[in-house]
Amino acid sequence: MSTLVDTRPLDVVADFPAIPEGWAYLDTAATAQKPQPVIDAVNRGYAETYATVHRGVYQRSADMTLAYEAARKRVARFIGAGSADEIVFVRGATEGINLVAQCWAREQLKAGDRILLSTLEHHSNIVPWQMAAERVGAMIDVIPLTADHRIDLDAMTAMITPAHKLVALAHVSNVLGSVLDAKRAADIAHSVGAKILLDGCQAVPRMAVDVTALDCDFYVFSGHKLYGPTGIGVLWARPELLEAMPPYQGGGSMIDRVTFAKTTYAPPPGRFEAGTPHIVGALGLHAAIDYVERIGLDRIHAHETALVAKTREALSQINSVTLYGPEDSAGIVSFTIEGVHPHDIGTILDEERVAIRAGHHCAQPLMESLGVPATARASFGVYNGAADVDALVRGIERVTRIFG
Ligand code: PMP
Repeated sequence: MSTLVDTRPLDVVADFPAIPEGWAYLDTAATAQKPQPVIDAVNRGYAETYATVHRGVYQRSADMTLAYEAARKRVARFIGAGSADEIVFVRGATEGINLVAQCWAREQLKAGDRILLSTLEHHSNIVPWQMAAERVGAMIDVIPLTADHRIDLDAMTAMITPAHKLVALAHVSNVLGSVLDAKRAADIAHSVGAKILLDGCQAVPRMAVDVTALDCDFYVFSGHKLYGPTGIGVLWARPELLEAMPPYQGGGSMIDRVTFAKTTYAPPPGRFEAGTPHIVGALGLHAAIDYVERIGLDRIHAHETALVAKTREALSQINSVTLYGPEDSAGIVSFTIEGVHPHDIGTILDEERVAIRAGHHCAQPLMESLGVPATARASFGVYNGAADVDALVRGIERVTRIFG
């Protein structure tokens, strides 16, 4: 592998007040640290402009409604959606997938239908489908991985049948960083008339995403992994699918007219946003999207890919280290050290001021297929640079000496 990768920092670490000097935060795949513009947007939302949305007759509320809906438009533009009406604000990717499982899968699937997932999915892209499948009598099939730990699209082509009504796949794996050829996966799904949902949690912070170009049917992501607040996320769906879906939850805001005889529902996206939403969360997400687009998603992708390359090159020199995932994984590296539990790796690295994640990463079926109970995972963000990789490698060398 080339050592001529550009791992110079993006020079944005000063934007992140919660990252002290000398702390290597390598857990962005779990949640990203927040840049000052996001913190400012949230603070302003509560300290200066706060009011409810969609209901108030007074100016402050009308202004907040405009700001909330401006965030929806910003998300639509960010992911190449046709219209802001295709953007449903949810709590996060988990809620977005559950919404599709309940409002689309439970309505559209019947006994004997099949759902196609892959070995590397996060539990939140497995369990909601199992719950829906149990309800309707559908079955789940699992696409295996290639030798270099990508979702095997040749195997998918061989497995898929007209009984498959839904395919749900991670656009980028949260454990391995493998990037899906999402357009090809969509073409394969559509060849049998199946819909495809992409779990974009790890993709959206790391690469430019255009749902129209990908030709998918549903796309979900979480704001907090995109440098935005927790408690806000996005479900995008084709308008005709949203139009045909019944609501997820009943309550205020999602109705057209309520009588005790019959209630009619608002059109999407309001139909899926019962109750007072995470108003300020949407403003923070707007600021987060502005922030990453100012840096440039292509630059972020190149930068994180370079950090992964440097990490993999250094760790591959250490005999006891096993690396998982493809060489060109996006911003995420999983590894194990022979004879050392990943939790011990994480604890020793913490002493070295390096924060990584250790565990099953909410992907127990993937752990089983890799033949390990857990891995250690380093994941990068815009604030990381070569010095963080050096700190990680020094820490791992210390782990190997301690357990040597
Ligand atoms: N899918 C993937 C690939 C993830 O990495 C995560 C978060 N670890 C989720 C889904 C769930 O996201 P959240 O917990 O924000 O709903």
